[in-house]
Amino acid sequence: MLTSKILLATQREAPADAEIISHQLMLKAGLVRKLASGIYTWLPTGLRVLRKVEAIVREEMDKAGAQEILMSGVQPAELWQESGRWEEYGPELLRLSDRHGREFCLGPTHEEVITDLVRREIRSYKQLPANFYQIQTKFRDEIRPRFGIMRAREFLMKDAYSFHLDEASLQQTYEDMFECYSTIFNRIGLVFRAVIADSGSIGGNTSHEFHVLADSGEDQIVFTEDGNYAANIELAAAVKPEGERAEPSEDMQKQATPGMHSIEEIAGHFKVDESKCLKTLIVDGANDDLVALIIRGDHELNKVKAEKLENVARPLSFASADKIRKHLSCDIGSLGPIELDIPTIVDFSAAHISDFICGANENGMHFTGVNWQRDLAEPDCADLRNVIAGEAAKENGAPLKLARGIEVGHIFQLGTKYSAAMKANCLDEKGTATTFMMGCYGIGISRIVAAAIEQNHDEKGIVWPQSISPYSLVLIPIHMHKSQRLREAVMALYEQFSAAGIDVLLDDRKERPGVMFADMELIGIPHRLVFSERGLDANTLEYKGRTDEESSDINLDEAVSFIQKQLASG
Ligand code: ATP
Ligand code: MG
Repeated sequence: MLTSKILLATQREAPADAEIISHQLMLKAGLVRKLASGIYTWLPTGLRVLRKVEAIVREEMDKAGAQEILMSGVQPAELWQESGRWEEYGPELLRLSDRHGREFCLGPTHEEVITDLVRREIRSYKQLPANFYQIQTKFRDEIRPRFGIMRAREFLMKDAYSFHLDEASLQQTYEDMFECYSTIFNRIGLVFRAVIADSGSIGGNTSHEFHVLADSGEDQIVFTEDGNYAANIELAAAVKPEGERAEPSEDMQKQATPGMHSIEEIAGHFKVDESKCLKTLIVDGANDDLVALIIRGDHELNKVKAEKLENVARPLSFASADKIRKHLSCDIGSLGPIELDIPTIVDFSAAHISDFICGANENGMHFTGVNWQRDLAEPDCADLRNVIAGEAAKENGAPLKLARGIEVGHIFQLGTKYSAAMKANCLDEKGTATTFMMGCYGIGISRIVAAAIEQNHDEKGIVWPQSISPYSLVLIPIHMHKSQRLREAVMALYEQFSAAGIDVLLDDRKERPGVMFADMELIGIPHRLVFSERGLDANTLEYKGRTDEESSDINLDEAVSFIQKQLASG
């Protein structure tokens, strides 16, 4: 490809609202452009990367025995009503109606459509197991689209759905997909971790997420060094404190704390550690009421654990300040469990402390020296908090480490959630109609592009893993427009690289060398060859790998084999 023939669209600055590096670099390198919030156009260079990711995913899915299909992006409401998700899914589902007033949605995922297809097409156990996948555009009306294509509203996903008549077969395909995903992310060259995960609104039991490790990741993952346990923090169980609670040693006192609202202010005022204070959070209850969730001041509420509690509304929502004032007659910074007449659930570690400080349910007042059992009843307890670095994993006692991750893949065992609701069954070996068991397997194709950049960049721009680089090699001639000899040499070599099947870009723009170098480094092409008159005199080219400090001269006649060697080595 010649740069003069494509829309390169590099730019020096990224807009101020591009918060993370991948978003900035994707705009600067001319990979994407925003059309509307969370909706993007892929430019030629970006599309090449996206297609390479897609190709790797397709190859590995085919190898794993999955069959490619392509389902429609627009889905009839009836199928979603059958599964029950028309009501359940909430505002992320973009609904629309056609000219006849029939309702549809833009598919955020395709369980209903595939289950409908399979219940019509698969009649016998002899056709099973079957695993269907597609690479297709999804739409989710995300509440907060952000970070460019990382959390978009329209995005490209590979989604696969498998069908079985027994648990063992489902388990086998699940394991095959686990392997397949590991191969895909390794082939792309990403540093990732598979973790146990929550299955969220898609439903089902067993599930793993695949996370690309990066500080900008939205997810927190936890793992033990020995590699035996890794989970999304949403799921990581906290160990209940052991031993007896310490005996009370202080009297309970009500004390004025004017203008103090945060745990930090209260702990500072009383000169105690934040772990001696209680944090009282009021959330909406499942029955249009309020529920208090109480954790230690130094801990964080785990929203996924909280919303699994029976009397808590799902999705979790914090009660508004107005509602709290109306029902509890005080403001958020002064809440506490004493004489709080709403259902209250206390985290195990908050229930284990003595002589603690909590709000008095009266503005500007706190209690100190409070003790469970003596000053208020023993609470109802649950695991409500996020685990913290260094504490022992419940599973194997090893110390936990924390890291941030970008979720690029998610696999689930759905069981019969959709097939039962949609009456999807087929005949087993004995001729009995049996409900399908299902698995589903997603990969965020477009998100991978951003995740790869988060993990691979420097101050000059993107540093693509070779597997998904838009071009493998760029040729940069210095002042080609002034020299026929140089033009001929460059074009001859360009032809040779193309004939050798190498993805080569020739920068034939009438630009200063500095501009061409900067653009190609920004775009992140792994290998660069510079042609100059002086080089031709000596029959040499200047080679530089994208992250090399210095360039080195190579023999012009050996350029193709030299580059082939570089590409082969990684
Ligand atoms: P998240 O927790 O990030 O919202 P999810 O659990 O909703 O993800 P799935 O329904 O499992 O995601 O979708 C499969 C994959 O699609 C995810 O692992 C992720 O890589 C990708 N994905 C999901 N939502 C988006 C989005 N808004 N923009 C880009 N990719 C997404
Ligand atoms: Mg989501």
